[in-house]
Amino acid sequence: MKIERFVVNPFQENTYIVSDETKQGVIIDCGAFYTEERKAIMDYIKENDITIKHLIATHAHIDHCFGNNTIYDELGVKPEVFKDDEYLMAKLEKQALDFCNYHLGYDMPPVGKYLDETDVIEFGTHRFSVIPTPGHTPGSVFFYCEEENIAFSGDTLFKMSIGRTDFEKGSYKDIMNSLQKLKECLPPDTIVLPGHGPKTTIGQEISSNPYMR
Ligand SMILES: [Zn+2]
Repeated sequence: MKIERFVVNPFQENTYIVSDETKQGVIIDCGAFYTEERKAIMDYIKENDITIKHLIATHAHIDHCFGNNTIYDELGVKPEVFKDDEYLMAKLEKQALDFCNYHLGYDMPPVGKYLDETDVIEFGTHRFSVIPTPGHTPGSVFFYCEEENIAFSGDTLFKMSIGRTDFEKGSYKDIMNSLQKLKECLPPDTIVLPGHGPKTTIGQEISSNPYMR
């Protein structure tokens, strides 16, 4: 499995393109904002001849969704997010105004599917399960690839930190419960790829992240 990371938009968000030897792949958190960022992602997909099967978001904050329209316009792939973030998907334009004082000026694509915890994201020979981790937003999730031992943590877990819980419908109590649940369901050597900043592992965070104790 090959993972390419693009650090994008004024929030330095991590967009990941994950593909395998079948040349099928998924895009996680397409936050591409500037024209060059959108182009870099499309160039990578074309140059590597990847067929994108899913465009998924760990949660529906605008900095994780800015580039969804490019993927939809160029490839016809609609975004998928966890069902509890439907209220955020419905107001991406307002989020852009509130958080960045920015007028989107383009239509966001229709949502392809609202996910729940029974969904499995499939591409090529790989599968991601959906682990609900509410707290940063109600619909925040981990996408977990068990066979590769890799988890995409969005803004729930960062290296040495966690996501903010002071946004609308955020909950400190919920994120703390989510972190405890992750300790039980993910092996310590699981590689964690966050929505911002460098990668880490569950074990490293258990030993060094004060929120994971
Ligand atoms: Zn966020």
